[in-house]
Formats: sequence, structure tokens, C-alpha cells
Amino acid sequence: MIKKTERWGIIGGGVLGMTLAHRLKQAGNDVTLFEAAKQVGGLTSAWKLDDVTWDKFYHVILLSDTNLRELLRELELEKEIKWVETKTGFYTDGKLYSMSNSIEFLLFPPLNLINKLRLGATIYFASKIKNWKRLEKIPVEKWLRRWSGNKTYDKIWLPLLRAKLGENYKNISAAFIWTTIQRMYSARREGLKKEMFGYVPGGYSKILKRYYELLENNGINIKTSYSSKKVYTSNSGEVTVEFENGETENFDKVILTTPSPIIEKICPDLTEAEKERLKNIKYLGVVCASLVLKKPLDKYYVTNITDSFTPFTGVIEMSALVDKKEFNGKNLVYLPKYVLPDDPIFLKSDDEIKDEFIKALLKMYPHIKGDDILCCQVARAKYVFALSTLNYSKNLPPVSTSIPGVYILNSAYIINGTLNVNETLELVKKKLPLILQSSKFTD
Ligand SMILES: Cc1cc2nc3c(=O)[nH]c(=O)nc-3n(C[C@H](O)[C@H](O)[C@H](O)COP(=O)(O)OP(=O)(O)OC[C@H]3O[C@@H](n4cnc5c(N)ncnc54)[C@H](O)[C@@H]3O)c2cc1C
Repeated sequence: MIKKTERWGIIGGGVLGMTLAHRLKQAGNDVTLFEAAKQVGGLTSAWKLDDVTWDKFYHVILLSDTNLRELLRELELEKEIKWVETKTGFYTDGKLYSMSNSIEFLLFPPLNLINKLRLGATIYFASKIKNWKRLEKIPVEKWLRRWSGNKTYDKIWLPLLRAKLGENYKNISAAFIWTTIQRMYSARREGLKKEMFGYVPGGYSKILKRYYELLENNGINIKTSYSSKKVYTSNSGEVTVEFENGETENFDKVILTTPSPIIEKICPDLTEAEKERLKNIKYLGVVCASLVLKKPLDKYYVTNITDSFTPFTGVIEMSALVDKKEFNGKNLVYLPKYVLPDDPIFLKSDDEIKDEFIKALLKMYPHIKGDDILCCQVARAKYVFALSTLNYSKNLPPVSTSIPGVYILNSAYIINGTLNVNETLELVKKKLPLILQSSKFTD
């Protein structure tokens, strides 16, 4: 019997949608990928700043990112990765400290030796935990106070949690800190406990261009500037997708990879229970300023901030990692602020955000003057990652929805990892076989 070629539609052309499309096509299906923006890539997309083209949001690769490295091998880019030992800074009480190895950690002045040992023990203990589901039931504050003590919690953990999560840290489970520590550890696991990060010269702009070409050459129909506004089953039993541009297309199966609040809006036929579960997934967004500077800020790739005067929640100096040739000899810095999607900052103009961010940056780094800033642009994304609230994984809606032929797979389904491209690819590995299996029964 000849196997019927199925028509699959993928909504959302980020790395997740691109990879689903790629694997479904390799499995012999007819695949169309729809992306609302003018180009594919989603959160990994690049833009131009001054004469520099680089990612809108900062990205690094870890040695342990095996799925991502496998994909880069397919794209013939894995050998190009440059691995660099990086340093981490800590800005606290108006001073910048290096926290890149155990000795610097022991010299870190804001904590006494006992508090430092408790902090170190908490991180080590978390790195060894295998049963993370247990942590989903415990509020992060309770867990950290228990293991690190009140002084370390108030001085270090609380400002860091606030920096990343705002006041939402109160509803977050200890699984959040576990996944963060696991990722941090995997950056240090190899390379003699030194932090090693990698990048592909040319950044994600080059990766995405190569990926786009591969998909196109393999016969995937890629449609950009196609924002889907409604997905439902038509009377003929096909899945119909309506787009903002007035067009309509029909498929046998559709996978939605967009953030959950968008899925809830564009699939009116989901059951109330499914909609409720989608609504209960709370996202954090990000407002991130990118600056091109004449001078470097310092030597750290990441600087964590525990002081509260900065509107941004960390400093990422990309040019402390990436060869400056990539930036025409200049320096590239990111200033992210993680916020809820309804935070008033989303109502501010780019100029207002730039003014506030630059003022604080100049205070933090007095050797930088206004005229050292060659360019500053603000990127925004309202739905970046789902917050790991208490019992998070138990409350997710099923991937296979009640609408025949319609599936949901987005980054909210990363339940035991931080948001990163490697975990995004892991989702495809784990969930696509289940989708294909369950889709057989709905035929
Ligand atoms: C500040 C920041 C730093 C990061 N740092 C790293 C890092 O160092 N290392 C790392 O590996 N990862 C990092 N990541 C994470 C990485 O970018 C994500 O894991 C990955 O890009 C997620 O891909 P996705 O396809 O799931 O989602 P997205 O990229 O969000 O893709 C979803 C796509 O759906 C599209 N869409 C939305 N609505 C519609 C609609 N109605 N119709 C059609 N299309 C629609 C969107 O335009 C978007 O392109 C970072 C992310 C951010 C924001």
C-alpha cells in the first residue's frame, strides 16, 4: 500500500517551527511553515546596529548543547564554533567583583565564610538533584532559605530572583533555580570547571540563513509575513488556517509553536479546560537594549547585578566573548530587563528606555562617557519564557488538542530545563514521535 503524503502546516517560524518542519519533511510529508514576521528565526533573529549585524537577543552555545551542535553539524557549521573561556562579574553595593572561579568566590566580600560555604553547598547540592519533580512543589524562597540561610538568601538570591523574575519570584517553584544551576554547571562541567561558551562567527544571522536554505532546498514551503488568526477544523475534516492577509489554507495536521496566549486566541474551538490551562501559563517577556560602544565595559561576559538602581537586570558584554572582528573592532553590549507582558515598560518609547538604561550604565561604568555610545537600539518580546510556577508540569494542556489534527508544541513544554535553543530542539526530539503516533489514531 502506498503511504499517503500528509499535508502539515506549522505555525511559527522560530527554531522550533523550523525544526518541526525539517523533521516532518524528512519523514516524507508535505510541509508548509508560516511565520508572522518578515523573516524566520523568532527570538534568534538578527538585526543591524550601526555597521554590526548580530542577534537581537544575546545567544551562546554550551559544550553540553548536543542537540544544537548536531543541528549545526547538519548545517555544516559545527566545526566553525569558536569556544571561549569567559568570566562572570558580580555588581553589588556599587562595586564590580569577579566571580569566575572558586578562589574569587572565596574572596567575595559581601558574604562571610560560613555564608559562602552555604551558598556553594546549595549550588553543589542542586547540581546533584535528579528528582526535580519534587522541587516543583516547593516555593523557591522556602527552598533557598532552607539551604543557603537567611543572610545569603537576602543578600544574593533575593536580588537575583527579583532581577530575573520581578515580584513573581513569590509564585515560583524551586525547580526554577534547579534548572538554572543545572545549565550553569553544564557550562562549567567540562574544560576544568572553567566556563566555556561558544558562538558561530556571523552569529544566528548566518545559522538562520543556512537553515532557511536547507529547508527550502528540501522542498518545505516557507511563507513569511503570514500571521495566522484562526485555526479550526472545517466541515470536510481538514484543518483550516486563516491569516491576517485574508488568505486561507487547509491541511491534514497543524502544529502551533507560538506562545500559549496566542494559541488560546487563535483556536476558539479548544475546550474551556484547555483554554484555562493555556491561560494559566504565565510568561515573562524581555526588553533588551543593544549598544555598540567605542570602549569595552570590562572583561565579563555576564555581570549579575544585585543593586537596585539599574533598570536592567544584568549586563551581557558580547564582545568579551566574540572576536571583535565580528563587530568591526567595536564592542557589543546587551542590557536586558525581564518583565511581565503587561509591565508598563512596554508602553514606553524606545527613547525613554534608552535614556533610563544609558544613565544607569554610565553610573555603573564611570570610564564610559556618552560619546562612547555609537548606537543603541531596543528589542522587545512580550512572551519569552513560561514561569515555572508551583506544580507547573502537571498543569500543562496536552500536546494533542481536542481539535482533530491540531497540536500544540511551544517552549512552555520545556519542563526541566531553562529556555535555550538546545532544550527547544530536545522538545522536537521527544514530542514529535508522540505527535506522529497520536496522529495515526486520529486519521
Ligand atoms: C534575551 C534572550 C537570551 C537568550 N539567550 C540564549 C542563549 O544564550 N542560548 C540559547 O540557546 N538560547 C537563548 N535564548 C532562547 C532562544 O532564543 C529560544 O530558546 C528559541 O529562540 C525559541 O524558539 P521558538 O521557536 O520556540 O520560539 P520563538 O523564537 O518565539 O518563535 C515563535 C515564532 O512564532 C511567530 N508567531 C507568533 N505569532 C504568530 C502567528 N499568529 N502566526 C504565525 N507566526 C507567529 C513569532 O514571530 C516567532 O517567530 C535566549 C532568548 C532570549 C529572549
